[in-house]
Amino acid sequence: MKRLVLMGAGHSHLLVLKQWSNSPLKDVELVLVTPSAWQYYSGMIPGWLAGHYSVDQCRVDAQSLALAAGAKIVLDSVVDIQADNRQIRLAGGESLDYDWLSIDIGAQTNLESLRGYTGSILSVKPLEQFQQRWSQRYERADGQALHWVLVGGGAAGAELAMAVAHAMPSGTGAQRRLSLVTGKQGLLPDFRPRIRKLARRKLVQLGVEVIEQRGEAAGRHLTLTDGASLSPDLVIAVTGSEAFPFLKTSGLALDTQGFVLVNEYQQSLSHPRVFAAGDVCSRLDQALSRSGVHAVRAAPVLAANLRAATEASEFVAFQPRPHTLYLLSCGDKFAIGSYGPLAFSGRWVWRLKDKIDRGFVEGF
Ligand SMILES: Cc1cc2nc3c(=O)[nH]c(=O)nc-3n(C[C@H](O)[C@H](O)[C@H](O)COP(=O)(O)OP(=O)(O)OC[C@H]3O[C@@H](n4cnc5c(N)ncnc54)[C@H](O)[C@@H]3O)c2cc1C
Repeated sequence: MKRLVLMGAGHSHLLVLKQWSNSPLKDVELVLVTPSAWQYYSGMIPGWLAGHYSVDQCRVDAQSLALAAGAKIVLDSVVDIQADNRQIRLAGGESLDYDWLSIDIGAQTNLESLRGYTGSILSVKPLEQFQQRWSQRYERADGQALHWVLVGGGAAGAELAMAVAHAMPSGTGAQRRLSLVTGKQGLLPDFRPRIRKLARRKLVQLGVEVIEQRGEAAGRHLTLTDGASLSPDLVIAVTGSEAFPFLKTSGLALDTQGFVLVNEYQQSLSHPRVFAAGDVCSRLDQALSRSGVHAVRAAPVLAANLRAATEASEFVAFQPRPHTLYLLSCGDKFAIGSYGPLAFSGRWVWRLKDKIDRGFVEGF
């Protein structure tokens, strides 16, 4: 029997499996390789951190979903792809041949700007590790004087800073200091000025010190552009994402940053039997931001095209929408929203985000 391997239980693959649980593939052995039986939903992690959700509310049971879709689940990580030989190798040492491969493994945190830092770092990805390590840190922090620094001024960095500010114990004055070091491009560089202003105001209200400078790491210190030095107890790295290094030797066509190049069918530009969706891939014809929204929207196209590949039928094209709705939670059940030129904020925006996010996870 021919074999289709789904690599990673990212957003797109969860939705593909959900669709196939109603109409399974015929005469194809389906295998899901994922390091964890649970897939954490990043959109709710700031809300979990702020105390609005339990862990179970923020994760999808990928194992049950795979079984419902008739897939075999392998709890392991892929460490090597040999696309010319149609083979992947797992961390456990086993190799697996495939007829078709679909990659939805996301990306890893880019720690380049923190190279040389020898203090304690908590990296936001992988999310399952972040969730566990944050819980341990948070418990130990109770009642202590602390200086925690979040590094990274994008949407995830801003949201996590506001969530931490909301969650930090006994938090005033000397007892807790929370800084957000954004990098030289400042806070939310990809957003419009109105959104940046709203977020900056909210961060300051929550007692977050917003430092719109680059932090140069050396030993246990971060030296800022103006010469000041921070010596945090903990650095939380939200420093953007980079492609997994093992893709470099896969033989797959990659962009200059090492992400898998795909066409409008989510199909590899070099290997027609390989597909990819979500943060792991890039399109040559249009630049898409690395966000869960695109991974979700690409899922029906990926599902249709993987089925078409196994049945030798026609592919359908993915057309990203011109605007994307971004909702940034601000710690205390308040959120800021952006859609094209529009900027809005309020408790109703948080309720909207809460409804969308819970709807996504509960949909499985
Ligand atoms: C705190 C935070 C909040 C965010 N909020 C939002 C938001 O509100 N809206 C939004 O659109 N985006 C948001 N993002 C961005 C979003 O998380 C990513 O764009 C999205 O997760 C990408 O989805 P994906 O399917 O590509 O991969 P992921 O969701 O990252 O899933 C990849 C999966 O592959 C698995 N995997 C990794 N390596 C391997 C391997 N070698 N072998 C097998 N499996 C592997 C991982 O364990 C993971 O389960 C947020 C990010 C963060 C950090």
